[in-house]
Amino acid sequence: MSDTCAIHSIYRATEGEGLFIGTPQIFVRFQGCNIGCVNCDSKDTWEFNDKSWPLSQVIEEIYSQSGHYPHQLKRVSLTGGDPLHPKIAPGTLSLARVLKKEGFFISIEAAGTRVINELFDVVDFINFDLKTPSTGVRTPLSLIEKMYEQYPNRFQVKAVIADKRDFDYAFEAYKSVQSKQETLLTNWCLTPCYEKDEKFPKERFLEIINLNEQHGGAFRVIGQQHKWLHGPNETNV
Ligand code: SF4
Repeated sequence: MSDTCAIHSIYRATEGEGLFIGTPQIFVRFQGCNIGCVNCDSKDTWEFNDKSWPLSQVIEEIYSQSGHYPHQLKRVSLTGGDPLHPKIAPGTLSLARVLKKEGFFISIEAAGTRVINELFDVVDFINFDLKTPSTGVRTPLSLIEKMYEQYPNRFQVKAVIADKRDFDYAFEAYKSVQSKQETLLTNWCLTPCYEKDEKFPKERFLEIINLNEQHGGAFRVIGQQHKWLHGPNETNV
């Protein structure tokens, strides 16, 4: 437990990707990440620094952005940075426990490198990354299998896809995990990569949709709506 949180920013926006696309949320973006994805679009969250916020200030800010009954927004996304990094996770856990008691729906972004039971037991939904070759990072498939054992129906697998190599990798991972499950896996979501300074990558998007159709529709292909609306360089939207 910790009474401080390493915060990059807290802002209200509509979720732009994954299975909750289109859902308004308050995003609590934690500061600090050492995972090093090559195509990370929030590198300003990497640095670990001492600018922690008292937990009470974080909660106050969430409430100031959530509005009032009957229009109060009670959905929070814990994101980063890496909210599961050992230096950050104690603050993430403290915050999640308070928000849970207050009746918020909590989702968390997990980079696919750790399962933290103490924290995952508290939150409502886990966005668990499968890191693809273009990220330069690897997700042990054993962690995804663990998620199916421990948190069935409470998580999605999200993979950023830059090219066919990434797609093939994701499909092999899906087949491997599926082979150990009794029911059809329907919670895998592919995000076509949309790099900073890039024009909308329509060809890449279409290629991934076509590949998915050719491979039995194993995945849901969902783009990053916030980047279509605000451009790929805008942050906190
Ligand atoms: S885990 Fe997230 S914040 Fe960290 S490098 Fe990867 S994409 Fe960026």
